Amino acid sequence: APVNYDVVVVGTGGAGLAAAIQAHDDGARVVIIEKMPTIGGNTIKASVGMNAAETRYQKLKGIEDSKELFYEETLKGGKFKNNPVLLREFVEQAPEAIEWLAAKDIELCDITITGGMSIDRTHRPEDRSAVGGFLISGLVKNVNLRNIEVLLETSVAEILVENGAVTGVKVVDEYNDSRIINAKSVIVATGGFSANREMVVKYRPELDGFVTTNHKGATGSGIAMLQHIGADTVDMGEIQIHPTVEQTTSYLISEAMRGGGAILVSQAGKRFYNEMETRDKVSAEIIALPEKSAWIVFDEQVRANNKAADEYIAKGFVISAPTPHELAVKLNMDQEALQTTLGRYNEFVAKQDDEDFGRETALRHPLNKGPYFAIRIAPGVHHTMGGVTINTDTAVLDAQKEVIPGAWAAGEVVGGIHGANRIGGNAVADIIIFGIKAGHNAAKLALGH
Ligand code: ADP
Repeated sequence: APVNYDVVVVGTGGAGLAAAIQAHDDGARVVIIEKMPTIGGNTIKASVGMNAAETRYQKLKGIEDSKELFYEETLKGGKFKNNPVLLREFVEQAPEAIEWLAAKDIELCDITITGGMSIDRTHRPEDRSAVGGFLISGLVKNVNLRNIEVLLETSVAEILVENGAVTGVKVVDEYNDSRIINAKSVIVATGGFSANREMVVKYRPELDGFVTTNHKGATGSGIAMLQHIGADTVDMGEIQIHPTVEQTTSYLISEAMRGGGAILVSQAGKRFYNEMETRDKVSAEIIALPEKSAWIVFDEQVRANNKAADEYIAKGFVISAPTPHELAVKLNMDQEALQTTLGRYNEFVAKQDDEDFGRETALRHPLNKGPYFAIRIAPGVHHTMGGVTINTDTAVLDAQKEVIPGAWAAGEVVGGIHGANRIGGNAVADIIIFGIKAGHNAAKLALGH
């Protein structure tokens, strides 16, 4: 028998959970549908943090930042391909989204930096742990507090439309039984398609054979469903490869390592690029090396300041040694070369001037405190910038830029915000900012306010 709700949310990543909480708080009857057996989507793997400018936490730390600079740096990082209207909205709403989370006991009060930014604006948990797990567990707590229903192992197969407006969804459960759920608003928060090799290769043939950092539910099904009801897409070929992925496990090594002072070294024992450049550029430089891979090298000080480092050690990714010489031996690397590289880098730190590669940020401290550590990395498919088109209300748009009534989308399923390259820390901001909006507007439509 059909079931009636005001708002159906598809996907339990950050966008879906934020949307569901907001829609509930606006008075809507909400159900969340997730095809995987667990909650969290790809968001749970998010590492570095959430970017926002002019926040209370920045002010507390005396960090001077501006929305304008955040806008400009994101646009530059996105190669000026970003949708300016969506990007403006994103930058404007970011501090409020940080507060929305804080009000729900999800405090991101420590601040770091990622590639392509000039100012510390990446908000993360106080204990500097990875943002994804922290965020999802906090959001799930809020979902449970509100008794919002979550259906796991249930896929939305189709969005239903009558007379041009959304009327609900068709879902298929783990026993392959299908049924209809009625709702005036459907929020598609199904994430990207990095784990759909066929779809990735369709748009970017040269990415065949690349590992992906994404969970296996990142198949792009939401894009296909929305296209089926007339949604337009944008930037589908803009697929981000992340430069630092451990290849045997496809595990992402957070940008926070470089943001915390680590460097990248080739098999020849040399730095080869500005480690704090944007992901696309750093990836391209790694692929251009003869071995198509590199080492993230850091010392005890960097380890002590990054919780993630201990996680990588526990996972067995990290090679360590008491001295640079011994580390080089273990890495099968020229000993003198690594020693020289570290010495030279440490001089640049001392004068805060990277003469070789112009690294301007995160020249944190000299790498001179043993033990020394290295992780072998190479790029992997990480994020799909393209997706369906929306307006600033998160209403899904068709090819004529007309709203499809009742269809909303937020998060990685949406295209345009990040242009040709997403900046680290901007995906978490995106899912929360636009997730809240989607929840709010979906509830408003469904309740007839
Ligand atoms: P975002 O970061 O945009 O919130 P995530 O990748 O974190 O996106 O989460 C998207 C979630 O949507 C994943 O948990 C994924 O399994 C789920 N999902 C994708 N397609 C469907 C579908 N057709 N039906 C139900 N859930 C889906």
